[in-house]
Amino acid sequence: MQIAKVIVDIASSNIDKIFDYILDEPLAVGQRVLVPFGNRKIEGYIISIVSESSLDESKLKHIIAPLDPGAVITTEQLSLAEFMKNRFYVGYADCIRLFLPPELRSGKVSDVFKTIIKPKNVTEIKAYGETLKKNATAVRGLIEFLVDNFNGVEQSFLNKKFGNTPLKRLKELDLIDIDYLHVNRIPYNDEITTKKEVILTPLQQKAVDTILSDTNGKYLIHGITGSGKTEVYMNVIKSVLNQGKSAMVLVPEISLTPQVLMNFRARFGEQVALLHSGLSAGERFDEWKRILSGDAKIVIGARSAVFCPITNLGVIIIDEEHDSSYFSESHPRYVTSMVAENRAKYNNCMLILGSATPSLVSYSKALNGEYKLVEMLERVNGQTLPAINIIDMGREVRLGNNGIFSNALQVELEKCIKAGNQAILFINRRGFASFVQCRECGWVAKCPDCDVSLSLHKEENVLKCHYCGNKFRVFNECPECHSDNIKYGSIGTERVVEEIHKLFPDVKVLRLDNDVTKTKDAHKNILAKFRAKEAQILVGTQMVAKGHDFPSVTLVGILETDLALYQSSYLATEKTFALVTQVAGRAGRADKNGVVILQSYSPNHYVYQMAKNYDYLAFFKKEINIRQVTKFPPFSVIVRILLTSEENNLAIQALKVYYNNVLSLKDKYPNAFIYLNKMKSPLSRIMKKYRYQIIMRLEPEFEQKVVNELFNIDRENKQKNVQSFIEVNALDLR
Ligand code: ADP
Ligand code: ZN
Ligand code: ZN
Repeated sequence: MQIAKVIVDIASSNIDKIFDYILDEPLAVGQRVLVPFGNRKIEGYIISIVSESSLDESKLKHIIAPLDPGAVITTEQLSLAEFMKNRFYVGYADCIRLFLPPELRSGKVSDVFKTIIKPKNVTEIKAYGETLKKNATAVRGLIEFLVDNFNGVEQSFLNKKFGNTPLKRLKELDLIDIDYLHVNRIPYNDEITTKKEVILTPLQQKAVDTILSDTNGKYLIHGITGSGKTEVYMNVIKSVLNQGKSAMVLVPEISLTPQVLMNFRARFGEQVALLHSGLSAGERFDEWKRILSGDAKIVIGARSAVFCPITNLGVIIIDEEHDSSYFSESHPRYVTSMVAENRAKYNNCMLILGSATPSLVSYSKALNGEYKLVEMLERVNGQTLPAINIIDMGREVRLGNNGIFSNALQVELEKCIKAGNQAILFINRRGFASFVQCRECGWVAKCPDCDVSLSLHKEENVLKCHYCGNKFRVFNECPECHSDNIKYGSIGTERVVEEIHKLFPDVKVLRLDNDVTKTKDAHKNILAKFRAKEAQILVGTQMVAKGHDFPSVTLVGILETDLALYQSSYLATEKTFALVTQVAGRAGRADKNGVVILQSYSPNHYVYQMAKNYDYLAFFKKEINIRQVTKFPPFSVIVRILLTSEENNLAIQALKVYYNNVLSLKDKYPNAFIYLNKMKSPLSRIMKKYRYQIIMRLEPEFEQKVVNELFNIDRENKQKNVQSFIEVNALDLR
C-alpha cells in the first residue's frame, strides 16, 4: 500500500499538521490534493510517499483527487523546507506559503485564454459569402478577412473591426472553428526592446573569466558604483544558459526598477520571469507557472523569489548583497543569502554576491577564503567617482543660514539646473515633519496606540503614525495649553519639495517615497518621468539610492543622515557608510562629472570621512576591529526574545518566566553567553501592545545549540495573550 504524508489546513495554523492518507493512484511528491478532513474536504500537499503508516491503516482515509496535473512543489523545495525548519525554525506550512503564489491556494485567479477564430473550411465559407446580398457588407467583410487569415484571428479583434453580430451569425451557421489559446500575463511585456551586446571592458572580462573558471564557486564582487556589474552578471548568465542551465537574480525590492528588468529582457527576451510584490495577482501567478514549467530560464526577483520553483540552477546572483531588504524581519524570518547558499549547494552551482559596499560579514568571508573576492574598482566610463563635499551644518547655522539647504547646495543646485542637468536630493524621512510640538508647553503629538510621535503629512493634511498607519486631524493650536506656537520638527521629503519650490519656483520636482508609491506602477512611472527629464529634481527616501542609472544626474544632495548614524544599533555605521556611497554613486554615471553635497552636524565622523574618500577597505578594517573588540557580529550572535501584549502585566510576567529559563540555560552553557539582559523595548508600545525584550549575545559556535533550546523554552512557556518572537541577528532591535 502507498501512504502519502500530506500537510493540510495551511491557511490557519503555523504548526505543521501532517496526516497519512492512502494513495490509490500514482501521484507525485509535491502534488496538491483534495483530502477528507473531519467532515470537510480540504486542500493538502503531498510531502512524501511511504510504503507503510505507523497508524492503523484500516482507519486511514483516502486521497480524493489531485488538484493539478503535476507537482506544484519541486523536490528541491521540499529539501529546502527541511533546511528552513532546521535553520530558521520555519515549518512546512509556512514554507508552502513561501513557495506557492497565494493565487494558487485561493483559487481566485484563473488562467487567461485568447479566443481564436478560423473558418472551418475556406471554400465553404466563401460559397456562403457569395449567397449574401451586396448590402450585407459587414458579414461579407468578415468572411473576406477570415479567408485571408485562415490560420486564425483573435475574436476580440474581429468584434472590434466588424461588430459582434456578423461573427455570431457565422457561429450559428457552424462555419467557423473556435480555439482557446492559453496566454501568459507577462509583466511590462509591451516594453521589451532589443539591445545590442556591449563589449566588455578588460576589467569586466576579467571578472567574468574568474567567475566562470569555477562553476560551483562562491564569489563576492566588490564593484564600485558604475563599474558595470550588471554586464558581468549577464555574461555569466549567458554562459550558464549555454550549458542548458538556469539562473536566478535577486535584487532589493525597491531597486527592482523596470530599467533593471528591461536590460535583462532586452538581452534574454521572454526567458526572463519577474517576481516581486508590484505585480498584479494574475501576472505573479503566470510568472510562477512559467518558472515551474521550465519555460522561464532566468528569474529576477526580490527577496522571496529565492524560494521560486526554478530547477537546474547554474548560478544564483544576489545584487546589492548588503541591502537590509534581504533579511526577512517578520514571520517567517530568514536570511536570503543563507537560503541562496543552500540552493547553490543543492544545485552544485555558482553563487555570486555583488555590492559596492559589501556587508562586513560577507567581506570577512571573502578575506578568509570562504568567498572568492572579485574586485571591480573602476567605473566603466573611466570617470572618477563624484567628489563628496561634506558641509558642516553647524557652521551654516553660525553664519546665519537656518534653512534646510546649505549655501553650497543652493549654489550647486542652481548650476546644475542652469546646465540642464538633473539632481537627486536624498532625505530618509517621508512626510513633511517627523514630529509636531507645542513651543509653549512642550506637548508632542503622539500615537495613542504606539509609543512614537506623529509625522505631519501636508499633502494629505493629516498626522500619521509610521508604525501603525493611524491618521489624525491636524491641529492649529496645542490641545493642552491652546497656544498656536507650534513647531514642526525634523524635515521630511514633503518639506524638501516645498523648500525647493520656494527657492526655484519654475523648476519641476518629483517625489519618490512610500507615500507616493502605494499604487501599482507608481514607482515605475515616477522614475520614467525623471528619466524623460520631465523634472529636474528628484527628492526621495532611500528609494532613490538604489541601483538607478540616470545619465543626466550630475548632482546628489544628501540632506541628513546624522540620525541614522547615531541610531543605537551596532549596524548604524555600516548602514550609513553604505547609504552615503550608494546615494553618491547616482551622480556622474555617464560622460558628465558628478558632485555630491553631504550635509552633517558631525562632518568629521570617520564614517563620513571614509565615505568621502570611497575608502571601503579602511572603513572595513576600522569597523571589523571595533566589532572584534566589543564582540558584536560576526564575532557574536545577537538573539532577542521579544514579548508583546496588550496588557502590560502579562508582558512583564512573561518576561520574568522567559528570563528565568534563559538564566538556567546560561548555567547549562556558561561559555556561550557574552551578554544577557532583560528590559523594556526601546519602542515600548506599538499597535496597542507593550513590548519587553531579553537580549543576549552568544559565542558563534554555540548559536545552533542555544537557539534550539530557546525555541524549546518558547514552546513550553507560551503565555496566554502574550506574543513571543525569537529573533537571531535581527537588524532592528527597537
Ligand atoms: P553598477 O551596477 O556596477 O553600478 P551598471 O551595471 O549599472 O553599474 O553599469 C553602469 C552603466 O555602464 C550602465 O549604463 C551600463 O549600461 C553601462 N555599461 C556597463 N558595461 C559597459 C560596457 N562594457 N560598455 C559600455 N557601457 C557599459
Ligand atoms: Zn502647549
Ligand atoms: Zn501608531
